[in-house]
Amino acid sequence: MENLTELFGSKVFNDSTMKKRLPKETYKALQKTIKDGKHLDINIAHVVANSMKDWAIENGATHFTHWFQPMTGITAEKHDSFISPTDDGNIIMEFSGKELVQGESDASSFPSGGLRATFEARGYTAWDPTSYAFIKGNTLCIPTAFCSYGGEALDKKTPLLRSMEAINKQAMRVLKLFGNSDVTSVKTTVGAEQEYFLVDKDMHDKRPDLVFTGRTLFGAMPPKGQELDDHYFGTIKSKVAGFMKELDEELWKLGVLAKTEHNEAAPAQHELAPIFSTTNIATDHNQITMELMQRIAKKHGMVCLLHEKPFEGVNGSGKHNNWSITTNTGKNLLDPGETPHENAQFLLFLCSVIKAVDDYQDMLRISVASAGNDHRLGANEAPPAVVSMFLGEELSEILESIEKDEGYDAKEKTIMKVGVHVLPRFAKDTTDRNRTSPFAFTGNKFEFRALGSSASISGPNVVLNTSVAESLKQFADELEGAEDFDYALHELIKKTIREHKRIFFSGNGYDDAWIAEAEERGLLNLRTTPDCLPYYVSEKNIKLFTDHKVFTETEMRARYEINLENYSKIINIEALTMMDMAKKDILPAASAFIKQLSDTVVAKKSAVSGIACTYEEDLISRLTALVNSMYSDVQALDNELSKTSDIEDAQKLAEFYKDVIIERMSKVRSSADEIETMTDRGCWPYPSYADLLFGVR
Ligand code: ADP
Ligand code: MG
Repeated sequence: MENLTELFGSKVFNDSTMKKRLPKETYKALQKTIKDGKHLDINIAHVVANSMKDWAIENGATHFTHWFQPMTGITAEKHDSFISPTDDGNIIMEFSGKELVQGESDASSFPSGGLRATFEARGYTAWDPTSYAFIKGNTLCIPTAFCSYGGEALDKKTPLLRSMEAINKQAMRVLKLFGNSDVTSVKTTVGAEQEYFLVDKDMHDKRPDLVFTGRTLFGAMPPKGQELDDHYFGTIKSKVAGFMKELDEELWKLGVLAKTEHNEAAPAQHELAPIFSTTNIATDHNQITMELMQRIAKKHGMVCLLHEKPFEGVNGSGKHNNWSITTNTGKNLLDPGETPHENAQFLLFLCSVIKAVDDYQDMLRISVASAGNDHRLGANEAPPAVVSMFLGEELSEILESIEKDEGYDAKEKTIMKVGVHVLPRFAKDTTDRNRTSPFAFTGNKFEFRALGSSASISGPNVVLNTSVAESLKQFADELEGAEDFDYALHELIKKTIREHKRIFFSGNGYDDAWIAEAEERGLLNLRTTPDCLPYYVSEKNIKLFTDHKVFTETEMRARYEINLENYSKIINIEALTMMDMAKKDILPAASAFIKQLSDTVVAKKSAVSGIACTYEEDLISRLTALVNSMYSDVQALDNELSKTSDIEDAQKLAEFYKDVIIERMSKVRSSADEIETMTDRGCWPYPSYADLLFGVR
């Protein structure tokens, strides 16, 4: 391998490359645009584009694309070549400033939730200069936002950038109150830990469920599962190690700070953790990571499954969103400081998150909702659908003493007074112990653990940034007018803890008793995607996002619509795939096996008249009963599915899929899985769970 430091970022048009290649004036102007979010002058864009093109061509690129994140799970790109004809019939390689900063795209092939009906079908993409351009294969990729011509966001980047602006604005007001005159901007930071499964490609391709839906719709449990806990941090198999090595190298070339790779709890499950970066870059990088995982796995004869629940009965995959707030001077605002003053500031920012998580539990829940993630949340392997917060023992005690104006140190009986006392440093291992909490303070950041593995991290971070911006706004409004700042601050923190402490929970989040207690506390328990989605368009939530200019009401209604549609579409595809597999493979296989058994009985009896055929006859009758009942379950599913076309209301349709179709599907599955346990291995049409989970060596 080349020198690692040379490798890192070698395919990124990053700051050092820009510094090297751009004229000084251009570099400065671009930096100003990036730092202050100013509009980029077209003449500067021309110079940048030209230099970017030369660099890209030197690095093997022939095409460019505006790389964007529409409201589907994937990223989209439309490739154009740099080629431009000249008068003398030759070509030159060209890339203009206009092509860099703005592109046109046909929006009609991407979901718009009705935005398309009111606006033109065309959309445009606009460069996000805060996220560097990079080369993928032979293509220069320019990270862009994607909007309709009416200016409505059709993607996941636009609201994220808006939410970062919202929290910047409000955090700056609060920081000013604490006299931080050197700080000029605030950004949120994210490190997204990514879980995934690797399965053998040939086996994968033999399963229509994996091919069409990304998860298994059938499959009996193998004799060995994850009960031995021998996979977690176990030795990495050589094929997987080869994959991880290449993945790391490719990610490093793209400037993605991949840091740790290890096995996870379930067999065939792994995790990648990057070093954190600014939220919008972390979001782009997580998309790139998921894309590369899938591509590189194929090269190594495997398929990377990013679905939240590829195997029933085996832990699914999530994503941990580690989130914090940092100033341009490098101070982490969720890190307790050395002085009472810094501590007071820390406590206020901490309170802003506490208040946000309590006030916007519903939006946080929605931000992780999907048909896939519904299989995980609350299933004793991932945090429950109830949003709560874990602060660790030490910090909880301190907050309690502030709330009650009591001594927090049992020995010294000191009264914890904000702005007067120094906080202890929170040792990480004492705060990170609770893995069952959806939202945990881990010493200097919060870890939101309810995200699904396949989703963009944009949604949860839009909600976090905006809801915390709202808390900070209310705090600033109150403190800016205060006569005695320290007193007002102390009272505000006390009041916030008192009003929102119901969100604190340090027990076992997987325990049923907690769900009952949470309901008593008035916390929301929105179990499934159709349960939570209507909250998207509640008055309170529309007010939040429109006040902070993150979404317009139209955009929110559109997103609500798209999420509902996605949910129904996914379940529909799963149901159709299931019926197809049942009718064309599983039932015929079982029937053929029954015939084979019957032929054996006839043969045996003709060889030795009156011989007992207990094994065959017993199996024939049990299997026949199961096959008959599975057949009627399939017909029932088919029958219910035919009703879906009559349901026009999108919410009602999603609920029908949730309540009726999923129920029917589980009936079909349970007969099929039982049939599998009784059928000759050689007759079974698909690789089994054991093959898939233990097939990569
Ligand atoms: P673990 O969760 O395994 O204990 P760490 O706490 O070191 O590991 O980090 C988990 C993730 O949190 C990493 O991706 C790391 O980069 C990220 N992280 C650390 N500090 C911050 C921060 N200030 N803001 C956002 N993410 C952070
Ligand atoms: Mg973690």
